[in-house]
Amino acid sequence: MKALVYTEPGRVTLEERPRLKPESGEVEISIELAGVCGSDISGFLGHSARRKPPLVLGHELAGRLSDGRRVVANPLIACGHCVYCLAGAQNLCESWRLLGMDQTPGTFAEYVTLPAGQIHEIPEELPSARTVLCEPLANIVHLFRISAPAPFFRLAIVGGGTMGALALLASQRIGARDVLVVDVSDQRLETAMKLGAAATVNTCSPEGLAETRRVAGRGYDLVVDASGSGPARQAAFDLCRPGGCVVLLGMAAQRSELDFVTSIRKEHRAVMSFAYTPADFRRALDLLIAGEVDLSRWTEQLPLDRGQEAMERIAHRPGTTLKMLLEVAPSR
Ligand SMILES: [Zn+2]
Ligand SMILES: [Zn+2]
Repeated sequence: MKALVYTEPGRVTLEERPRLKPESGEVEISIELAGVCGSDISGFLGHSARRKPPLVLGHELAGRLSDGRRVVANPLIACGHCVYCLAGAQNLCESWRLLGMDQTPGTFAEYVTLPAGQIHEIPEELPSARTVLCEPLANIVHLFRISAPAPFFRLAIVGGGTMGALALLASQRIGARDVLVVDVSDQRLETAMKLGAAATVNTCSPEGLAETRRVAGRGYDLVVDASGSGPARQAAFDLCRPGGCVVLLGMAAQRSELDFVTSIRKEHRAVMSFAYTPADFRRALDLLIAGEVDLSRWTEQLPLDRGQEAMERIAHRPGTTLKMLLEVAPSR
């Protein structure tokens, strides 16, 4: 089968790879569309300790089973029997693995095999370009579930990329008010306004930071950091009201500094959110099927054999594209 292989930092090449035979309990999916995640980009750029060449990257997919049924798959494979799995926190499983990471081949290929329980059938009318957003949206479902904002909460989002945009769209379904999006790209902020943000501020200048403080007023009930850079994390706490909650989602910086004393005085609650459970994934799929969250206008598709170009474009010149999709086979 054809697969896009990450061969060295900054390079992916289309190669012929053996098609793995599904083991007992596994199914094979013929991939139609694969999404490029920020974590794939971090791997591609050589920044990820768990994505080492040679590796087929990718964990987001829309595809078909051999009998033609259209499916999406939860790419986070948990063991199912450790204490965390038994408690329904499969995202904290002691031995989880993810497609396109460590030794597990990913979705930038014609076929992928995984346990049958990871598969969800999707309706014929759900386009693949929407389906493929199920996995990133599952992260957002999870973060709102575990941070449990109170009704009519005021929300700020730091970072207007894929995750920030999905958080914005999902928040509109759960009663968020006065949603502010901050970013360092005017283009992304323009998109955030089109997606329904109440206000946006570019924080890359001192004036921008002053404007953020003015807009924030007494601060937000919930602040989501969908960036993960050091300054973004601090900005999230700066935007949070006394007694409010900051959700840390972005994983860009391994370590970063934080003004702890100010946050302690304000009794900020910090919630760290990682991945999703199978229930979150299912809920995300239901939101997509219902048409309640749709980012497909802001996606861009390139064929798998132009993978190098696709990776470079989304890593360095995303423009208004929030999600790059690789076309592996004709899809609907
Ligand atoms: Zn992802
Ligand atoms: Zn487990």
